[in-house]
Amino acid sequence: MPPTFTQLNLQLETLTAQNLYRCRRIIDSPQGIHLQLDGKAVINFCSNDYLGLANHPAVALAFKNAVDRYGVGSGSAHLICGHNTAHHALEEELAAFTRRERALLFSTGYLANLGVIAALVGRGDAVFEDRLNHASLLDGGLLSGARFKRYAHADAADLASHLANAAGNQLIVSDGVFSMDGDFAPLTNLADVAKQHGAWLMVDDAHGLGVIGEQGGGLLDYYGLSQADVPVLMGTLGKALGTFGAFVAGSEVLIETLIQKARTYIYTTALPPAIAEATRASLKIVITESWRRDKLDTLVKRFRRGAGQLGLALMPSASAIQPIVIGDSRTTVAVSQALLDAGFLVSAIRPPTVPQGSARLRVTFSALHEEQQVDRLLDALAKAALSAEGLA
Ligand SMILES: *Cc1c(COP(=O)(O)O)cnc(C)c1O
Repeated sequence: MPPTFTQLNLQLETLTAQNLYRCRRIIDSPQGIHLQLDGKAVINFCSNDYLGLANHPAVALAFKNAVDRYGVGSGSAHLICGHNTAHHALEEELAAFTRRERALLFSTGYLANLGVIAALVGRGDAVFEDRLNHASLLDGGLLSGARFKRYAHADAADLASHLANAAGNQLIVSDGVFSMDGDFAPLTNLADVAKQHGAWLMVDDAHGLGVIGEQGGGLLDYYGLSQADVPVLMGTLGKALGTFGAFVAGSEVLIETLIQKARTYIYTTALPPAIAEATRASLKIVITESWRRDKLDTLVKRFRRGAGQLGLALMPSASAIQPIVIGDSRTTVAVSQALLDAGFLVSAIRPPTVPQGSARLRVTFSALHEEQQVDRLLDALAKAALSAEGLA
């Protein structure tokens, strides 16, 4: 008898019954505010392209020119023959941008987090993570083999209570802006706790970089935290920067350690150099066009005001991520579908991405949205919430 997937099929049926089954939707347009989705025009309120750079003409042109110059594939890992002058220039610019000694490119943020944590801690060490950290940070902690401890969300006092009697190297790991909640980690307090206990602090600023700080320097810039305060900074290029990939920034010793030891750096193909060139172009826009951040701010405030008037439960978020927690997965999916029928794409985020009972609509904004579109989304939300009450 050939092996069958009977058990897997049962698991899929269970997911369906629990309203946790996930489906992909097919986009047939560039990334942006207006998407062509399964043949229908919708307004997009759930991407991470916060500054509207994923399809910016200058970024696209830099990409095309670099393809003419370097071709498409990088051909190899960085340590064999894949490290291109474009990568190297981008690393230097990212180090300057984040005010760190050095930066190191990784092929994705997920890989960066897996590789960095395991390069810094292992058996005999300990890693401490906010319980709402991104999956890649939690996976990285678990895979490292270090003692793994989650602390209460954004709670430096709880963190400190766990650190008191730990042995070996200690690594504290936190999202900067929390990806599903939009709130800021209390980084100043975390940095203090780290110093008091001789622990290292690593911050994943995937959702702060480019969006927060006068020139988009991110949450560390906003709090004024130096490389000494936060020795390990990780950032992604696929969100506000609009391209693809990730980097880690910090001291010379940190970066050289990662080059020698981070397996997800060593054993994977380098990003295409054209992606690096496109990112160099987008980084210039991030730094110089602060109107994009101002615009985001205006949109977020308008949304929060309007949502408050509708009595929608918002989270304490000042970022471009404005979740509306509904709780139950079925209702969340129903509201998301009602919004889609009205022409708005807002994805339903369900467990295990968020804790049980906290399914939500994750509304995100882009500098390319217009205020009118925010008002129309609010109208649609009011109607969808009403009809969902009948469904619940
Ligand atoms: C998106 C994200 C990642 C993963 O980055 P990719 O480049 O998409 O793999 C890591 N951490 C956080 C907080 C993220 O939001």
